[in-house]
Amino acid sequence: MTAHGISKVYEGESGEKTIAIKNLNLQVKEGEFLCLVGPSGCGKTTLIKILAGLLLPTSGEILMDGKNVTGKPSRERGVVFQENAVFPWMTVEQNVEYGPRINGLPKNVIKEISKKYIKLVNLSGFEKALPKELSGGMKKRVDIARAYANNPDILLMDEPFGSLDSQTRSKMQTELLQIWQSERKTVVFITHDLEEAIYLADRIIVLTARPSYVFEEVTVPLSRPRKKSVKTTPEFVALRANLENMMENAIKLSENNC
Ligand code: ADP
Ligand code: MG
Repeated sequence: MTAHGISKVYEGESGEKTIAIKNLNLQVKEGEFLCLVGPSGCGKTTLIKILAGLLLPTSGEILMDGKNVTGKPSRERGVVFQENAVFPWMTVEQNVEYGPRINGLPKNVIKEISKKYIKLVNLSGFEKALPKELSGGMKKRVDIARAYANNPDILLMDEPFGSLDSQTRSKMQTELLQIWQSERKTVVFITHDLEEAIYLADRIIVLTARPSYVFEEVTVPLSRPRKKSVKTTPEFVALRANLENMMENAIKLSENNC
């Protein structure tokens, strides 16, 4: 997926304008785990909605396999937001089966898909549970299983673990890495947590504060599969310090621009 010259200007009711994104270019490589980091309010959610086709940019275009997909949501681009998207009146199984059912897949295939992804997100045994019976982390797992069950070409995740407690969050990060490793789907993952970004990503893109554009790009040299213990290695700690510096500079730079 490639984003060319993306800009987004929001216009308020009284005509005031907010430039959320300014001339942003981005190339997502096939199969990679890409993290986007940036200060709060810099335009990350705006960007992921544009990449998903849920929001039209003011200018610029999104290409996938050479095709222009600007402003067109599609099953090919799965989205996971911070807020849970599970249907509260459906069981875990019904939630995961929803997408394949809408796509008209045969019943036995739907069952195979839901079994596979419920197992992959460690929810086997909870097929008949309703969301209200699940913890925050478990609901997030349903969200992830639902996104994968649609067999998208790319997964776009906007701070999906943002509202989880730190222990659950850390566990979910490791689980997501395992899923990514076994499924090999391209993931674009937004976070403002640098530790999370380093642990997950092949590549990290640092965005400036509003109006956001690409400030720096860092390749994460840590080998895979990664274990939680990597977070305390000197290599990890040094990279984190480096990224913290970049973030500070990114914020300063856009303050100067304002
Ligand atoms: P982030 O996800 O990085 O915190 P957002 O993309 O949510 O940032 O928002 C970027 C900027 O655009 C913010 O200043 C926000 O107030 C503004 N913004 C977001 N959505 C709208 C909207 N629908 N109308 C007007 N302004 C918006
Ligand atoms: Mg956001």
